[in-house]
Amino acid sequence: MSSETRARPRAVRADLHSHSRHSDGTLTPRGLIERAAARGVELFALTDHDELVGLDEAACAAAELGVQLVPGVEVSVTWAARTIHIVGLGIDRDHPALKSGLARVRAGRHERAREMSDELARVGIDRTYEGALAHVTNPDMISRTHFARHLVASGVCRDLRDVFSRYLAEGKPGYVPHRWATLDDAIKWINAAGGVAVLAHPGRYSIGELALSELLTQFRAVGGTAIEVSTSSHTADQRRRFAVLAQQFGLEASGGSDFHGPGESAGVELGLVAELPIGLTPVWHRFV
Ligand code: AMP
Ligand code: MN
Ligand code: MN
Ligand code: MN
Repeated sequence: MSSETRARPRAVRADLHSHSRHSDGTLTPRGLIERAAARGVELFALTDHDELVGLDEAACAAAELGVQLVPGVEVSVTWAARTIHIVGLGIDRDHPALKSGLARVRAGRHERAREMSDELARVGIDRTYEGALAHVTNPDMISRTHFARHLVASGVCRDLRDVFSRYLAEGKPGYVPHRWATLDDAIKWINAAGGVAVLAHPGRYSIGELALSELLTQFRAVGGTAIEVSTSSHTADQRRRFAVLAQQFGLEASGGSDFHGPGESAGVELGLVAELPIGLTPVWHRFV
């Protein structure tokens, strides 16, 4: 390595947010790692929703294929009556408090799914619970994504985006509010398991300036470390905006594709992560 590269760290090809069949992705952990390796990803995090069970297979595949795995998770959180997601990176996948906390977060999903199905039936779309179940690959993890895949496969909607905007986003007929983990608990579990907490895709929350400041302040106060600046759902403007906020709030920056599977969402691919705006501290410096 030349002194020049040492003085100015090379951008490592990192993708720190992705999903496997153990939550709402369509590939196995091994399939993800193979795809990541083929696409030149050097540092890769599997971050299944509320679930750690894919991390053993991911670790084996990563070791075989020369990819560095950052064991991760994406925790569903309810904060101020909103759903937000907190990614944990570098966690111990066997940590008891994290494991039991996540088991509790997963627990209400089937009941919620039945309610979603009842709500969709009211607007004339029947048997969506059964339909969604056909897409579920982890019996513990039925999510809106599985409903969305069913509604696309059965011809009710054009694509996933269409499903969410017509039926599954907050305020739409199939949306059922749910109580997830508290922000405090999610960050405590992640930190206790030796990880760092990252506020996922902040641009996706419909939240005013003031509430966002409040969220970032609390996030930091209870032990949060970083926010996602580069993620597939952010525009260039959002990356700039969250870069400024990261600096203002003294947070590190993360980046990940939030990949769920080939052909799932236009323009989303493993390793396709916009470079971070300059002046930020990448959270991946902790893992390389
Ligand atoms: P759940 O945890 O059951 O509420 O499902 C949330 C999941 O739905 C997210 O992790 C995304 O994978 C997916 N999702 C949410 N909003 C959208 C959207 N607008 N378009 C596509 N997928 C979405
Ligand atoms: Mn998802
Ligand atoms: Mn998310
Ligand atoms: Mn995600």
